[in-house]
Amino acid sequence: MKRSPEAKRLEEILRCSRIVAGGFMGEDPRPHEEIIEADGAALARLGVTARQLAVRMREMTEYGMAGLGTPVRFEERWEVVVDENRGETVCPWPHEGRYQKTVTTVRRIDTGETARWSALSVHFVEAHGFFQGRGSPFRLEPEDLARFLMAA
Ligand SMILES: [Zn+2]
Repeated sequence: MKRSPEAKRLEEILRCSRIVAGGFMGEDPRPHEEIIEADGAALARLGVTARQLAVRMREMTEYGMAGLGTPVRFEERWEVVVDENRGETVCPWPHEGRYQKTVTTVRRIDTGETARWSALSVHFVEAHGFFQGRGSPFRLEPEDLARFLMAA
């Protein structure tokens, strides 16, 4: 793959552990462009966009904030806990943007499944279609996430 210096630099930042322990790529050997492409294709098969997922994730986080760290029921199927850690992180992509170190944990009441994301995770999904590398602590499998969030 022919890559620009910017793409190479971004890959280095995504793989480094300075911003988050373990980096954003985990054990995933694939270049970030390839991860984004594969995850985008998986979502396309389901007829869902990354943006739709991000909107839903943000809605849950904002709703859950009212609980101040205790579980809040969201609609009929989910329970949301938001931990508002102090401090901010920046996105490794070259643009302005700071994100709270908020961590949202959502549990499906019917299945017991859980999903977890940070404010930066939501931004990654929405702006970059990036669900992080496999093995990253905040990796979200797009198909699982779509089913988890969009359950009818
Ligand atoms: Zn960004």
